[in-house]
Amino acid sequence: MTQTQSAQTEKECIFCRILAREIPSEILHRDEHCFVIRDIAPVAPVHLLVIPIQHYIHAEFISSGAAPDVEATLGHLMSVAREMAKREGIFESGYRMAVNQGPDSGQSVDHLHLHVLGGRVLAHEG
Ligand code: 5GP
Ligand code: ZN
Repeated sequence: MTQTQSAQTEKECIFCRILAREIPSEILHRDEHCFVIRDIAPVAPVHLLVIPIQHYIHAEFISSGAAPDVEATLGHLMSVAREMAKREGIFESGYRMAVNQGPDSGQSVDHLHLHVLGGRVLAHEG
């Protein structure tokens, strides 16, 4: 298994299939490193997913050296999340960025993604 592969292969991966336009989803933003969609099952009025184009399983693979530019990759996702929060009108009211990583977190799609949640008061967790 290479560092960017997972049990869900890129062919099976929902996010890779959305990017390949095999599964419909409006792409709100796209650049050379990532794209942004709305979560299909939102848990807040604004619930976006910021997703790297490359099929990394989760952040651990980036920090293990699979991606040489760890800070740049994660930093870019956060920077885009911030811009999207502005676009969605939740920048001032506040929002949460979250990455689920591994079984205990409930990660259900094995392709790194940053949740951006806002538009209501969020229960504090963690
Ligand atoms: P995780 O639980 O892995 O952190 O988050 C995966 C997220 O992807 C979930 O919140 C789930 O609702 C979302 N999701 C799963 N399938 C689809 C889909 O086909 N389209 C969109 N837009 N989101 C999806
Ligand atoms: Zn993928």
